[in-house]
Amino acid sequence: MDTDNVFQVALNTLNQAGKIGHIDSRVLEVLQAPKRINEFRIPLKLEDGSFQVFQAFRVHYSDALGPCRNGTRIRPNLTLDEIKALAIFMTIKHCAADIPAGGAKGGIKADPSKLSRNDMERLIRAFVRNLQPRGPWVDVPGADIGTGEQAMAWMLDEYEQIHGYHCPPAINDKPPILGGSLGGEAATGRGVFTVLTAAAAEKKMDLAKCRAAVQGFGQVGSVVATMLHEAGCKVVAVSDVFGGVYAPSGIDINGLSEHVAETGKVVDFPGTEAISNEEIFAADCEILVPAAVQSVIHRGNEKQIKASLIVEAANGPVTTEADEALTKRSITIVPDVVANSGGATVCHFERTQGLSDEYWDLNTVNRKLEQRILKAYKDASETAGEFNIPSLRIGAWIHALQKLERAMQLRGWV
Ligand code: NAD
Repeated sequence: MDTDNVFQVALNTLNQAGKIGHIDSRVLEVLQAPKRINEFRIPLKLEDGSFQVFQAFRVHYSDALGPCRNGTRIRPNLTLDEIKALAIFMTIKHCAADIPAGGAKGGIKADPSKLSRNDMERLIRAFVRNLQPRGPWVDVPGADIGTGEQAMAWMLDEYEQIHGYHCPPAINDKPPILGGSLGGEAATGRGVFTVLTAAAAEKKMDLAKCRAAVQGFGQVGSVVATMLHEAGCKVVAVSDVFGGVYAPSGIDINGLSEHVAETGKVVDFPGTEAISNEEIFAADCEILVPAAVQSVIHRGNEKQIKASLIVEAANGPVTTEADEALTKRSITIVPDVVANSGGATVCHFERTQGLSDEYWDLNTVNRKLEQRILKAYKDASETAGEFNIPSLRIGAWIHALQKLERAMQLRGWV
């Protein structure tokens, strides 16, 4: 059955990969639910004199391979299931990228656009006080949608105020001046572009002769679109939450970035025609990059897709049924757990740099990122080949589950 519940989609993939990969059923049983869920409420007196109680979560999915890490999402419709899904994706992503870490995700149900900067700072600090994260060897929160470098700087400061000492590796996605890694902000987009290039080369697609559509023009989508444009690919369609733009001869992505910086939206960019967010999936193109939110490609729109390569920059953008149908149509899907692992990888570098107090230049970060993400792609592809399956997603999950299985066996958990 098709579902847009992204946690159910994650469990479907887990169970399918577990079955095909002959993973110990006890390992799969452990992974049916998170190891630990911390759900709490944050009361806050807002600057305008009003009062609100915010629901907050931190989910540790699995720490079989190491400390739980990453992600704090703030959005108005946040659900616990969404956080659970993101936490299992993070677990698999770390395995896929050979990072000795477990997967976690946190979040606050709030609308950042309705909070003043001062309220946002107090909310973030209250999140840290309520959560009491236990540092680089237990749980390292990072950023996600609705949070960024500034929020992580407040988190780090609150953590250090509580503990009375400096500890940059306790928080990820910090600004470089506070111990963050260079290249962190562009890491996910750069990683997506790197695996996209590898997958296109395998399919004998010449990027300079291809057309691409990118859904989402935020931190990730804008970097992917810019890198595609620089590689000579015609980016013919781009959309964001307000709608989309289309130009069959290609959109000037640098100009679009300036337009978005000025207006906050892609719509009304000169030289393009307006399309709806849904129409982006039917765009005439060879490459499709969903870089917005989950479950956007489903059985209701999968048939319209003309691209032969889909690279999942967003987490969980394709539902289970659509995934099966697209794979049957020989459309290559580079799955989220590989394609968007660049951010998690540079967070790993950030923690490594923080623990050693040695900071790397941008070329070093980018070179190491490219090496790791290409290896993750190769591992997924080789595992899919070993099990004679067309799905890179199942290949990536089997490869990850084999590592989790080994770690759980060695620890004596199963
Ligand atoms: P962002 O908030 O910077 O940008 C999101 C973009 O998607 C914006 O352009 C927004 O307008 C658009 N959008 C939001 N809802 C939409 C909708 N319903 N339809 C169409 N467009 C919509 O976020 P981001 O950091 O670029 O993240 C994008 C995706 O990539 C998310 O799924 C996120 O989980 C995933 N991801 C991000 C990172 C990272 O490092 N930022 C890492 C891994 C995965």
